[in-house]
Amino acid sequence: MEKEYSSKIDSLRQYHNTGVTLPIAWRKQQLRQLKRLVLENEGAFFDALAKDLGKPIVESWTSEVSLVVKKADYYFKHVERFAKPRKVKTPLAGQPGKCIVKPEPLGVVVVMGAWNYPLQLILSPLAAVISAGNCAVLKPSELTPTCSQLLAELIPKYMDQQAFIVIEGGVEETTVLLAQKVEHIFYTGNGRVARIVMAAAAKHLTPVTLELGGKSPVYVDESCDLKITARRLAWGKFTNAGQICVAPDYILTTQRMRDRLVAAIKDEVRAMFGSDPKQSDSYGRIVNQSHVTRLLGYLEGANIVPGGGQHDIKQRYVSPTIVLDPKLDSLLMQEEIFGPILPIITVDGFDDAVKFVRERDKPLAAYLFSKNKQQQQRWTDEISSGSQCINDVFMFSIVPELPFGGVGPSGMGQMHGRFGFERFSHMKAVMQRANIADPSIRFAPYTKNKLKWLKMVS
Ligand code: NAD
Repeated sequence: MEKEYSSKIDSLRQYHNTGVTLPIAWRKQQLRQLKRLVLENEGAFFDALAKDLGKPIVESWTSEVSLVVKKADYYFKHVERFAKPRKVKTPLAGQPGKCIVKPEPLGVVVVMGAWNYPLQLILSPLAAVISAGNCAVLKPSELTPTCSQLLAELIPKYMDQQAFIVIEGGVEETTVLLAQKVEHIFYTGNGRVARIVMAAAAKHLTPVTLELGGKSPVYVDESCDLKITARRLAWGKFTNAGQICVAPDYILTTQRMRDRLVAAIKDEVRAMFGSDPKQSDSYGRIVNQSHVTRLLGYLEGANIVPGGGQHDIKQRYVSPTIVLDPKLDSLLMQEEIFGPILPIITVDGFDDAVKFVRERDKPLAAYLFSKNKQQQQRWTDEISSGSQCINDVFMFSIVPELPFGGVGPSGMGQMHGRFGFERFSHMKAVMQRANIADPSIRFAPYTKNKLKWLKMVS
């Protein structure tokens, strides 16, 4: 395996070294092909996502297929502008001269995806990888095998085979892949494996992007619009059965608000998924039985709101479940939940909620539901997180001009829009000087007089 992977990566690098990825025309053509790949195989994608994750077609369209199409279109439209060298101001000491920032491709990039959005988490970064003019090894998650196989089958059919390859497999294959020298590793997944990725990358001084998760908190204030809040929270938590990196992990609210909020969320869950979500076409499944078992473990001894906690391990089903005031040292409150369990924790008010969040790891997202302008300002001033949304959940992720990525344990490196292009580019500094004789002030021998002049001009 070692020899096979290293020879594959060598071939990609040699191909890259020919300069084939430099013309914008090649990049645009690959982006066009990426779009064709998803649109022409939409049905196969829907089937694979249904098989691996029980993903409803509407979710497969909005958060997988159409998202990749939008990314391909976006970079197609902007790649020329992004790739253009940018002129910057040249200081007096560099005159006459010209300074530019010239983006250049990195070379060979590894993209490792997670299972919760098995297509999008490989193909969206691929759009940015292409726009920046790189070759890539794509490594889909082995936990969603139907999607992984589909990508392995389609990528060579649609994309430049000398520039993009898929390597399938689990820990064994990934370990060998990570031992190879590449120019960037883009990893989406959990923090434990991220440490393995970073340690492997350190051997070759390979830069990494780590798109991780964590516990994204929500504070619901008494001033919020209860119906809108409950609806957005129910959607944000129970879409994809809660398996979303930016899903609200837990809610903080006051004693006065708690029961009203629980009732309102329950109403919204019923409106979206009916009285038995197991029968609903709109409610997804957990990726595998061991993740169901993990989630059920969180519920042991928990104060579950009636109606929650139903499950069917064989069918990988866990019902939307609200838990009231869990112990803060329980696994439920120590680990990222990544499933349809929503703890609600009582706090004294806004200040207490801010303190609660600040005492913990910096999250990937932090949400505030409040009409209070002062609270809105303080939330963005005082909470550090990858992203934030006031009065909604992860809708920021649809805005290409907003960077997407974590801070601290929730990740490093930002994606989307220009941030994605620059992630996979080296922003090279270039200075060009004119051949005009220089004033002697710059050169030795140094004198007191020269120092006086240097102090005046610099
Ligand atoms: P996963 O199990 O699919 O693992 C991700 C990748 O790591 C896969 O390609 C897998 O093959 C590889 N891998 C697993 N174990 C490995 C090992 N020991 N050595 C080398 N490689 C290994 O996915 P996961 O980690 O369970 O994904 C869920 C996590 O991903 C959650 O924490 C979630 O928040 C996060 N996530 C983040 C984003 C984001 O954009 N920030 C998006 C989706 C998911």
